[in-house]
Amino acid sequence: MTLFSRERGKLSGVARGARKVANKFGARLDFFSRVAVMLHAGKSLDAITSVQTVASIWEALVDPDAFAAASYVAEVIDTLCEPDFAVEELYDALCAFQYALARGADRDALLAAMDLHLLDALGVGPELDACARCGAVLGRRPLKGGRARLSPQAGGLVCDACAAALRSGGITEEGATVLHVSAPDFARLRELRRMPLDEVGKESHPGRLHRITQAFVEQQMGRRSRALAVGAAGSRVKRAAGRRR
Ligand SMILES: [Zn+2]
Repeated sequence: MTLFSRERGKLSGVARGARKVANKFGARLDFFSRVAVMLHAGKSLDAITSVQTVASIWEALVDPDAFAAASYVAEVIDTLCEPDFAVEELYDALCAFQYALARGADRDALLAAMDLHLLDALGVGPELDACARCGAVLGRRPLKGGRARLSPQAGGLVCDACAAALRSGGITEEGATVLHVSAPDFARLRELRRMPLDEVGKESHPGRLHRITQAFVEQQMGRRSRALAVGAAGSRVKRAAGRRR
């Protein structure tokens, strides 16, 4: 099993017999459960010798969209974190995310906030206050045309001149993209970055914030998220089934 711990970051452990119905670990080692475990150091892998549930949100994860959101976050943490390297800030963010997901926080805002907290905890958060390419400070100036230009390849906000340079291929990064983000969405992203995850509300805002932050996460991963691709396919199947009824 892959565990993400406060003390040691990502680690692998063996839970012998955990798949058997009558196993002592039972459902306590279910996906996305928060547990206290005791580990016995082995030659290559640690063995899990006892498990206590701290928090489980399996009722919330029955919802396919919530499950897809949890799977996405687990996939990103698994991909971007080094084994045996504690990132306490990220562990705390994950606990708050688990709580907010169970409470029914707006999914788009919650995932966007989680992405930003996660990237910040790993020291690769996007620059949202100045141009990530030339350093020109945005300050409180209004955004030209009411839109912010963000580039995952450049590492955040880009000024007009740099956005134009990116578009015309003025820099060499392959497939550089510039995302055009409305002023309210941009303001909301900056707000979500500072907001504790368990304070993300249930009211949904028009706009697709997670699509923006996900581009920054996928830039770090070097690939698209598989969990969300599966989640999107699941939603399509559900919608198609709904239409047939
Ligand atoms: Zn610039």
